[in-house]
Amino acid sequence: MRARAEVDLAAVRDNVRALRARAGNAQLMAVVKSDAYGHGMVPCARAAVQAGATWLGTALPEEALALRAAGIGPGQARVLCWVWTPGGPWREAVEADVDVSVSALWALEEAAAAARAAGRTARVHLKADTGLGRAGCQPADWPELVAAARAAEAEGTVKVTGLWSHFACADEPGHPSIAAQLASFREAVEHAERAGIDPEVRHHANSPALLTLPESHFDLVRSGVSVYGISPVPQIAGPAEFGLRPAMTLSASLSLVKKVPGGHGVSYGHHYTTPGETTLALVPVGYADGVPRHASGTGPVLVAGKWRTVAGRVAMDQFVVDLGGDTAGAGERAVLFGPGDAGEPTAEDWARAAGTIAYEIVTRIGRRVPRVYLGELPADREARP
Ligand SMILES: *Cc1c(COP(=O)(O)O)cnc(C)c1O
Repeated sequence: MRARAEVDLAAVRDNVRALRARAGNAQLMAVVKSDAYGHGMVPCARAAVQAGATWLGTALPEEALALRAAGIGPGQARVLCWVWTPGGPWREAVEADVDVSVSALWALEEAAAAARAAGRTARVHLKADTGLGRAGCQPADWPELVAAARAAEAEGTVKVTGLWSHFACADEPGHPSIAAQLASFREAVEHAERAGIDPEVRHHANSPALLTLPESHFDLVRSGVSVYGISPVPQIAGPAEFGLRPAMTLSASLSLVKKVPGGHGVSYGHHYTTPGETTLALVPVGYADGVPRHASGTGPVLVAGKWRTVAGRVAMDQFVVDLGGDTAGAGERAVLFGPGDAGEPTAEDWARAAGTIAYEIVTRIGRRVPRVYLGELPADREARP
């Protein structure tokens, strides 16, 4: 195989168990949007449910519908999706028992219309903007949205199953916006409950809040990156300190190893020049595979027992490492990142090298890289199409 991303489903299950233990009495939603942050949505969703996640979260309704189409039924997991646009598949979501997020009147109206057409009740989570300034209803507009939701409940088209919001700075514990958002959320919940809303779940916490802020747990926590074993607060603690293990290992087979003389320019732009006679190894993955071009000259790779650094630019399909005179054979494995326990770099190391966050490193691993699942349970193999 040219390249592969191994995904350890046993790690996903163990991470979910560790997160549930931290969540106390709150239920756990495994966020599996964007193909489970690049790890593969359906296998990871199944693993999370096996380990006790009772909710699955997606951004797009299409992602939520794909979970249902894969056979993850409402008896196994509730599914919430939150990125809607007018004309979206509201009716399909209602018919598939998918909970939908509503931040504005137009969305409530589309959910209610879909429910009327389907002859069912839409399950709606009203989202408050408690300070993130992204999705969610502003405090000034909240009473109107709540009143409209109560009217739709009276009509029987809508049931408000959730009240929720999302943090701006949960990855910076102590940031003043955190307390302000919690206070705003409590007010929004109190207002809705006084108006007669009786939600099943109130939820505000993402991975960093789950791990660092117990008072944000409410009835449900939404855990994304931590399910895949990545620390959401790497400046405070690595995954092991939270009982987590990175699930993805990205590796490639060397496609060429050759001797070159000193003073030889390497890759586009010649941003690296060999300091003396040396061996170069060609790693056949590039930015088309999600290896960040921003890690040109900085990205770490385990080759022939040592960390090497990307020499020169990352190209679309390949990059070069200087083995400094060491030898390696074509076909030998180069490990870009993994859990880090066998001497390889981690996605966090790549994030630092590329000036980004580990979330982006794993999520952007391209479709051209096959996912290979380890730690599948027999039930997964049977369920696989
Ligand atoms: C992506 C997302 C999450 C998960 O965030 P993590 O930091 O990965 O745990 C939770 N809630 C919302 C609304 C999201 O968009």
